[in-house]
Amino acid sequence: MAVPKKKISKSRRNMRRAHDSLASSVYEECSNCGELKQPHHVCGECGHYKDREVVEVGDAA
Ligand SMILES: [Zn+2]
Repeated sequence: MAVPKKKISKSRRNMRRAHDSLASSVYEECSNCGELKQPHHVCGECGHYKDREVVEVGDAA
């Protein structure tokens, strides 16, 4: 088993963990209806993608 040669100090350990926090999810406004959506995803409200290309229709059952 690999064993560390030196004890990691609290400072070093915390420096390593400085990047461990979860990044908040990214959202952008839909260019068609203005709803918040994830980038590079079809808009869940109006089904638009890339300005005016309709990919799928909303769930109006
Ligand atoms: Zn939309």
